[in-house]
Amino acid sequence: MGELRKPEWLKIKLPGGEGYAQVNAVVKKHGLHTICSSGMCPNIGECWGNGVATLMILGDICTRSCKFCATATGKPLPPNSHEPANVAQTVKIMGLSYCVITSVDRDDLPDHGAKHWRDTINAIRRENPETTIEVLIPDFDGKPELLDLFLESAPDVVGHNLETVERLTPQVRTKASYRRSLAVLEHIAKKGFRAKSGIMLGLGETREEIIQTLDDLLSVGCRMVTIGQYLRPRPENLPVQRYVTPQEFEEYKQIALQKGFEFAESGPLVRSSYHADKAKHLVRGCCTSNH
Ligand code: SF4
Repeated sequence: MGELRKPEWLKIKLPGGEGYAQVNAVVKKHGLHTICSSGMCPNIGECWGNGVATLMILGDICTRSCKFCATATGKPLPPNSHEPANVAQTVKIMGLSYCVITSVDRDDLPDHGAKHWRDTINAIRRENPETTIEVLIPDFDGKPELLDLFLESAPDVVGHNLETVERLTPQVRTKASYRRSLAVLEHIAKKGFRAKSGIMLGLGETREEIIQTLDDLLSVGCRMVTIGQYLRPRPENLPVQRYVTPQEFEEYKQIALQKGFEFAESGPLVRSSYHADKAKHLVRGCCTSNH
């Protein structure tokens, strides 16, 4: 199949400007990585221009090779013990009131990176007590004891993406499992944390499958969802099967809200961390409105 032509609504703002340069300088100075650039996110111009970035911990080499993702696969370096402090400082310098942290998958580590994750969130909290912390975590091999180790740091929002519908998961996420990811989200919600998930459209899923996925998320207690268009980052990634219209995305948002999600962002350029801070009022309630 030839490459589909990108529709008008996916034309994006190119990175540049003062805000972009500032974020770039801070991130580089602390030797950190962002999923914004590693994942070739189309929103980088807008987000970095607004002083928002998603920091990626545990390196920039992933042990998995999901077919939708542009992050490099291979043998990662050992975790950097200075990273928790560096991330905490970066959040402070950037003056983030809402930060999003993610990581590569670390199947090479006995604890899959859970302790490093916990230490990083704790360090951010110590340095930035007013900052709302959202995380987008790997599945920690679905091990409840590793999830619990990480959850000791008590992040405000805990995201774990399904990425796609159940039928397409084996093709899209090579080592992951739809059911295991649902179990991870269920564990998070049962422990009293706010669980969030995201899916991409345009990989060949049907409308029924999308709705089923929303129902599956609700059934495990996940009430925050993002729905965005899959974009092929490199020729070796999966091709786009369909460009979903903004109207259809809006329809899924309304369906999600009607079904009981308390947060639903759905649109062609929506990513798990895109406009994540819109959920701030849910997380901290009215107590932050006085600050
Ligand atoms: S949507 Fe998320 S990953 Fe993309 S540029 Fe914005 S903060 Fe970075």
